[in-house]
Amino acid sequence: MSNTIITIDGPVGSGKSTIGRLLAKRLGFVYLDTGAMYRVIALEARESGIDAADEAALAALCHEIKISFKQSEDQQLVFSSGRDVTGAIRTPEISMLASSISAVKSVRNALVALQREIGAHGGVVVDGRDAGTVIFPQARFKFYLDASVEIRAQRRYKEFIEKKINIDYNNLFLDIQKRDYDDSNRTIAPLKPAPGAVIIDTSSMTREDVLKAISLHIDLAKQPSLP
Ligand code: C5P
Repeated sequence: MSNTIITIDGPVGSGKSTIGRLLAKRLGFVYLDTGAMYRVIALEARESGIDAADEAALAALCHEIKISFKQSEDQQLVFSSGRDVTGAIRTPEISMLASSISAVKSVRNALVALQREIGAHGGVVVDGRDAGTVIFPQARFKFYLDASVEIRAQRRYKEFIEKKINIDYNNLFLDIQKRDYDDSNRTIAPLKPAPGAVIIDTSSMTREDVLKAISLHIDLAKQPSLP
């Protein structure tokens, strides 16, 4: 089990990062939040005035910036060349920009190579849009979490309110719809369930329910098969 790769894909707010982080903690695995990596590049591009269509400049940025993670008690901290950007990468503006730059081939090539390097030895839970389809198609366990757009928008809204960030619900809803559409309809690595992925609709499930369902699936697969 220690060299196992587990992938969790799904649209915005389907619960994959919370579940991914908790599952990794439970298994003693590394948690790899691939979305955070696209967000870091988006933040750095915006701060450097790099256009989302400037493929060469974005590629250079991917090679210059050192993205790293650190697990704290209740969240994963994200660093861009040593600078803590955990909060700065979670704004609605950076979410939309991350989605735009994630459709750029040179950005995907650079980040997928990094992601494969991080997960090369297994013992990793990877969450994203293409974790099971592109990054680790050979993963032993693949999950795809989904939920209605209303539920996902409500979850995101609650997260912002809890962090005391003022946000307009209707704009958030529209942003999520656009991001899902763009992520699912791009040419490179579109969001879709990997072949053989276990699809879980989390709309009416609690975090614990989802974790239980995933853990049960993993435990069953570990059992010796019946004669
Ligand atoms: O998962 P998160 O919402 O943080 O991801 C931000 C954006 O990064 C997504 O909307 C998507 O466009 C992009 N992304 C991606 N491939 C991944 C992870 C994220 O294209 N594996």
